[in-house]
Amino acid sequence: MTQFSKVLKILEERFSRDLPAHIKEDPFRVLIGCILSARTKDENTDKAYEALFREFADARSLAQADLLRIQALIKPVNYYKTKAKRIKEAASFIIEKFKGRVPKSRKALMRIPGIGPKCADIVLSYGFGKPTVAVDTHVETVAKRLGVAPERARYEEVKRAIEQATPLSLRARVNDLLVVFGREICHKNNPKCSVCPVFEFCIWEGKWKRVNAQRKAMKNP
Ligand code: SF4
Repeated sequence: MTQFSKVLKILEERFSRDLPAHIKEDPFRVLIGCILSARTKDENTDKAYEALFREFADARSLAQADLLRIQALIKPVNYYKTKAKRIKEAASFIIEKFKGRVPKSRKALMRIPGIGPKCADIVLSYGFGKPTVAVDTHVETVAKRLGVAPERARYEEVKRAIEQATPLSLRARVNDLLVVFGREICHKNNPKCSVCPVFEFCIWEGKWKRVNAQRKAMKNP
């Protein structure tokens, strides 16, 4: 078993969860969920997602929807005005260029307005069940600290490195495990190294400094 497989096994035991609503349905909904989720907590994304799809069930109805109505429904998410515009544009594009069906190729997905590499990979992975890894800020931070991806790597290199290090059987799980671990323990600005379950696998040079500071803070609250 590789080092990273051991890490994933530990994370699977601790951080496995039911997926939030906005990433577990059909590809179109996963795509819209990804637009909604940028810089927003899962609970607010899910609130907006559920309100939106209660009223507009598919790409066609969203393409024809009133922009102000979309804004009102998705108000729980940050940047709701910009996201409402993107959602309407993406739905219209899918109707016009892809006859209402979300494409299965990464290249075609990235032609849709508002869809970059991360959302394309989220749709492929969660919407179509392909063995693709999507990289968000948590995934990137954790992968670099664990030595899976080089420190200076950018999106595509981080994605490839994680995919190569992850057995096929865990590809569908790796994104969510690293996201939850990143949020709860290995946060970019405030990693909780003193309680990290994969401390021994971490190559981040600041980890001991964090542990000492955290122990000191516990002794002198
Ligand atoms: Fe992240 Fe700290 Fe754990 Fe390393 S030891 S993986 S930096 S929480």
